[in-house]
Amino acid sequence: MVDHAGVAESAGTADVAIIGAGVVGCSVAFHLARLGCTNVLLIDKEPLPGSGSTSKANGGIRAQFTTDVNIAMSLASMDILDTLRDEIGDPPLYRKAGYLFLTGDPARFSAMTAAAAFQRARGVSVEVLDAAGVRAKAPYAAGPIAGGTFGPRDGFIDPGGLTNFLLREAARSGVRTRYGAEVTAIDRGGGTFRLTTTAGELRASVVVDAAGPFAGRVAALAGADVPVVPVRRHLLISGPCPALPPVIPMTIDADTGVLIRREGSRVLIAWSNPDEPPGFNTAFDPDFPLRIAAPVDARFPAVGEAGLDIKRSWAGLYEVTPDHHAVLGPVAAVPGFLVVAGFSGHGIMHAPAAGRAAAEMLVRGRSESLDVSALSLERFARGEAIHETMVL
Ligand SMILES: Cc1cc2nc3c(=O)[nH]c(=O)nc-3n(C[C@H](O)[C@H](O)[C@H](O)COP(=O)(O)OP(=O)(O)OC[C@H]3O[C@@H](n4cnc5c(N)ncnc54)[C@H](O)[C@@H]3O)c2cc1C
Repeated sequence: MVDHAGVAESAGTADVAIIGAGVVGCSVAFHLARLGCTNVLLIDKEPLPGSGSTSKANGGIRAQFTTDVNIAMSLASMDILDTLRDEIGDPPLYRKAGYLFLTGDPARFSAMTAAAAFQRARGVSVEVLDAAGVRAKAPYAAGPIAGGTFGPRDGFIDPGGLTNFLLREAARSGVRTRYGAEVTAIDRGGGTFRLTTTAGELRASVVVDAAGPFAGRVAALAGADVPVVPVRRHLLISGPCPALPPVIPMTIDADTGVLIRREGSRVLIAWSNPDEPPGFNTAFDPDFPLRIAAPVDARFPAVGEAGLDIKRSWAGLYEVTPDHHAVLGPVAAVPGFLVVAGFSGHGIMHAPAAGRAAAEMLVRGRSESLDVSALSLERFARGEAIHETMVL
């Protein structure tokens, strides 16, 4: 919990230092400010906020998951975004275009139907569609279709817009920022953390590790072992594709893992490469388009015909944990050090709920609005890793 008497307020000191000004760090800062904790320093090694994984994301948000905690995090984030809608104003940051999972495999369709029942029992709005229902929602999907599921409250968030909003509001309340300051050492003595950065020394009573794909490295500086590794992920942009409707749901071919959504007049295509090794490499892999050409052509032929615009396509880093769920909470071995990282591809959609949970832990001693105990770091040592099957 934040000890307000811990460190006097001055330029380089704070009650809370947040390392990482991506969407997650900005959400922690925003929620701390809303809880009245404003002696906060948000630190980033880059010259601008939100320039890490946040700037590379697809921006999907969905509640169609198969673990209690993923569903709860998504629903809480959706509620927060709905509550903030008027404050955010225009353009809206959260667009409910839906997520459509489809399959040509009857066995997979049975599993998806069971998943939908699990989700509905937890308050998720999700429809099970037969083949005709899928074709009505996605007339651009070709090949065999056994059925699918559609989440009408799922959709898209503008990652940069959300980060800017959270940061603007935090800064308005007094949260301070330090950009171009890479944290290179973390020492703890006398109940205070001393952060050595490339832009000088900073002090804080409490440190939040929101360093995205670098969270494991930052934790190691404090002497903590946090299993978050970076893994490259590509997003491809098609050429102009007038054949698809102007608005489509995030459409996922569950049989191949290829997913598409609209990006203006073009289409954005994603796929998780199972052969991608962990590492900080974000160079675009010229072989990647070849790997997904056949499944795209087969399921979304109009997208295949539109071709690819490789110059506009990119790769960024997922920040991945062994069970593809975030680490959210204190590190017992390093009192005052809290981790909010490892979202494994869900950091945009879960940032609102994660930031609130972390802020509540710091100000009130526990996450009151949501039970996030399943996301504790200790789960790995206890052998309580969580198993999610709807990973994209
Ligand atoms: C291609 C792609 C598609 C994605 N699609 C989705 C999606 O559809 N939906 C979704 O929810 N998520 C998606 N994600 C995941 C999402 O982008 C991340 O989970 C999210 O951005 C994590 O936010 P963050 O703030 O934790 O990390 P980041 O945005 O990476 O922020 C961490 C910050 O920490 C800073 N930092 C690191 N080390 C230090 C240091 N030592 N000192 C100071 N600062 C430091 C970095 O500069 C960075 O700005 C996608 C990711 C990629 C790459």
